[in-house]
Amino acid sequence: MKHLLALCLSLALGLTALPARAEEERAPLKIVTSFSILADMAKNVAGARAEVTTLVGPDADAHVFEPGPAHVAQLAEADVLIINGLGFEPWLVRLAASAKSKAKYVTASFGVNPLDLAAGAHDHGHGHDHGHDHGRGHSHDKDGYPKAPQDFDPHAWQDIRNGITYVRNIAIALAEKDPANATLYEANAESYITELKKLDEWVRAEIGRLPKEKRKVITTHDAFAYFEKAYGVEFLSAAGVGNQGDPSAEALARLVDQMRREKIRALFMENMGNPRMMETIARETGVENGGMLYSDALSAPGGPAPTYVAMFRHNVPALIEAMQKN
Ligand code: ZN
Repeated sequence: MKHLLALCLSLALGLTALPARAEEERAPLKIVTSFSILADMAKNVAGARAEVTTLVGPDADAHVFEPGPAHVAQLAEADVLIINGLGFEPWLVRLAASAKSKAKYVTASFGVNPLDLAAGAHDHGHGHDHGHDHGRGHSHDKDGYPKAPQDFDPHAWQDIRNGITYVRNIAIALAEKDPANATLYEANAESYITELKKLDEWVRAEIGRLPKEKRKVITTHDAFAYFEKAYGVEFLSAAGVGNQGDPSAEALARLVDQMRREKIRALFMENMGNPRMMETIARETGVENGGMLYSDALSAPGGPAPTYVAMFRHNVPALIEAMQKN
């Protein structure tokens, strides 16, 4: 009788409120990411609990992205916005303001040790870790001001250990936004991280089989400084980190000279880069193009690198095959 009374009472009080709340709990989180690699990570953490979309799509260049009205609408709807940070999305502040976004804002790279832009691909192991070191002047420019995000190399995901930091940050943010599913996000993140740790070991083992003097690669833009530092492959490029505009004739000539001098035959396009520059280099040096590397964007589904894991599974064998000819 007591139970029946309680049931009647709850029915009477909750009849209108209950279905609405249940509906709300079922509605998946709307996650918007700045670029395709983050979208894949978010999908791995959120599973079926979210609709994940990305602003900069597969094979597209986030450095030079120009948001349009559709992106404003996309962001206006978002519950969670995941960005890389480290100056990778200079267009984001204006876009978020236009969208009047109330999304929970997540910087996936939070906590990684960012590389200096100047350290880049040509710093042979003397890279400074900027992390939280404010005491020794490394995080300040010569005037003593803290470094701005654009002073750092944004491509931190090319070191899988940083990718793991990204995944942890995403899981923490989703758990905060949607506490009812926190354990699910944590479990998803842990199994994904286990996969990423294996991937990291595999990359090390694969690269490790190649003699050190052969580990040199020419790419379109400086997207691989973190890969270089983590896995011991030297990347050279003429176009710089930002991938904006063509390199100068002098920069190209220097690169061609170096390729001849050091007998570098591993030459790659990037899926979001400018193919013309690599065609010029290939013609100048007579070096055959080693194919496509995925650096700042995934391929479309069904392509060779539709996920973060698949990106390494594609890039690493391609790199090794080309570097063997060095
Ligand atoms: Zn880039």
